[in-house]
Amino acid sequence: MIALDAIETTCVYCGCGCSLYLHVENSKVFAITPSLKPPARGRLCAKGWLLHGFVNHPDRLREPLIRRGDRYVQTSWSEALSYIAESFSEIKRDFGPDTLAVLTSAKATNEENYLLMKLCRAAFGTNNIDNVARLCHAPTLFALGSSLGSGSMTNPIESLLHSDAIMIIGSNTTEQHPAVAFHIMEARRNGARIMVIDPRRTQISEIADLHLQLRPGTDIALLNAILNVLVQEGMIDEEFIRSRTEGFDAARDRIAEYTPEVAEGICGVPADLIRDAAVLYGRADNAATVYAMGITQHTHGTDNVQAIVNLALATGNLGRDGSGIYPLRGHQNVQGACDMGALPDYYTGYQRVSEFRGKFEDAWNVRLPTSQGKTAVEIMGSVGSDIRGMYISGENPLLSYPDGTRIRRALESLDLLVVSDIFPTETTRMADVVLPIASFAEKDGTVTSTERKIQLIRKAIDPPGSALPEWVVAAKLLEAFGISSGYSSSADVMREIAALTPSYGGITHERLERGGIHWPCPTPDHPGTPVLYRDGFPRGRAVFRHVDQFKHDNHKFTLIIGRSQYHFHTGSMTRRVCILEREVPEAFVDINPEDAAALGIRNGTGVILESERGTIRARARLSDGVRNGTLFMPFHFRESPANMLTGWQLDPHSRIPGLKIASVSIRREGA
Ligand code: SF4
Repeated sequence: MIALDAIETTCVYCGCGCSLYLHVENSKVFAITPSLKPPARGRLCAKGWLLHGFVNHPDRLREPLIRRGDRYVQTSWSEALSYIAESFSEIKRDFGPDTLAVLTSAKATNEENYLLMKLCRAAFGTNNIDNVARLCHAPTLFALGSSLGSGSMTNPIESLLHSDAIMIIGSNTTEQHPAVAFHIMEARRNGARIMVIDPRRTQISEIADLHLQLRPGTDIALLNAILNVLVQEGMIDEEFIRSRTEGFDAARDRIAEYTPEVAEGICGVPADLIRDAAVLYGRADNAATVYAMGITQHTHGTDNVQAIVNLALATGNLGRDGSGIYPLRGHQNVQGACDMGALPDYYTGYQRVSEFRGKFEDAWNVRLPTSQGKTAVEIMGSVGSDIRGMYISGENPLLSYPDGTRIRRALESLDLLVVSDIFPTETTRMADVVLPIASFAEKDGTVTSTERKIQLIRKAIDPPGSALPEWVVAAKLLEAFGISSGYSSSADVMREIAALTPSYGGITHERLERGGIHWPCPTPDHPGTPVLYRDGFPRGRAVFRHVDQFKHDNHKFTLIIGRSQYHFHTGSMTRRVCILEREVPEAFVDINPEDAAALGIRNGTGVILESERGTIRARARLSDGVRNGTLFMPFHFRESPANMLTGWQLDPHSRIPGLKIASVSIRREGA
């Protein structure tokens, strides 16, 4: 009988953070099974079941590479790291520390994000650090943080099982956060009523009691109208508003103009359906709101989130099981990357750079930068003028950032680009130095899921070739810059994080062996905090802030950019899993049959999409799941890079670009 190892770890894809087992034989992961722990509870999605498909792939990067002319030469780690340290030091000496920047990875562990943050601030000497959260949930951090006190999910996923009503807005939950969708369906079987607000008809909208199929980008008008009905019909929690919030009276006065009829004119949702939605949400004892990038990836993303917060505050739906606000994070560790201070304005645990610099200077025994750091898109926009050297950890901005043509020009003009990854990508192919990194199955560490749950990932097999965990790489680079690290394991790194970060103060790898812990967990004997705000808000009172609907341009076609359930982000992992690639091997554009007929487009016709930023080709898919004038397309495919069509206009609060929608024209190929 063959002895098989089963190593418990955490899924590397979406932010749900499903626990699962890697089954290993002959140093290879050959199968995956789900853990019974929440949120997996014995279930995985297709990507999860096939998680091992990319780990053993022959394309894995195995050795460090340095560009020599127009080709790459394999080199040793010591030569690669010396070259990197000398080259970054030279740029810093000649042009100043703020010409350097680091973009960390939401697929990397907390320990890796922490050490790259330390490298950026303590060694490079700049606050120019950011992570992919800037492109997905920066508005959540800003709106929930400033209004409630913490820019994160208020309740654990399991809390949805106690909800009487669930509002899902801007989230294709069954496809993109399946573990959350499992819980919503279970809640529905238990009697919860479900409403979906989405311009597309999706799987989750089909099981909903109400589907409000609004025009893209008109969420604020709709949410304000729901709030208006709640106020008019007395479905608000006066006691909660009086005792735990501020700013309601001013918000109530301004909400009055958003009647359901006015909102209907803006959103295209019938006024009576808006009233029904208000009753569904307002009459529930415990109502929850689940949202994702359909809310945040807009140039008014922060206001979108605030409109959700206003509804929860008006009805007192915070601080209890079954209530709450659930921003769904797209990547395994995007929450953790932010928690670890991979942000230009915060150290770990959202300790402001402006307030806590002295604390980190004392701990690290180094002077730290005082100047304001740039956000991810600002960093890219400053290449060629202010930014000359960049370290990109495990990200592929050529496909994931707006206006890929501009990103390519920016990366081409850097003096030094270092990219770490597990596979060659469009971005590694532009790097001066490529660093091969261990995958999630080949290292130890922690990640923090969308529900603020810190969990272990465990090493199951050795990395290929001489690939290393990125925390080891960052520690070696710190030493190359003369900053003694002395870490012998990622557990050592977590000890330093815990010592400096109140919300992680009670976290150790040893404790996590017994199961995940929700932060804040300030001390070793603290059990963690699954539900926030049970006893009040950190700032005393939560804040209403009225938000207005931005002008919605009536484009001929509005392209919604999203995801397929079979692929993840820029496809570097899932497109190497043959079953996932077989299911969706190429980009598609969903178009309403009436629009298609008018343009002479049939199912499968090649079409050209064009915006002010660029032109791409894809194949049309006729679908009455999208409204007239609306198109949908996923962005995973390098052959049809949808994000190339989007622009650089930023949300003024969170600095997120409007990646969710683009104004485009569409025509038949050859027409
Ligand atoms: Fe992984 Fe998310 Fe699927 Fe769970 S729901 S298995 S975390 S991709």
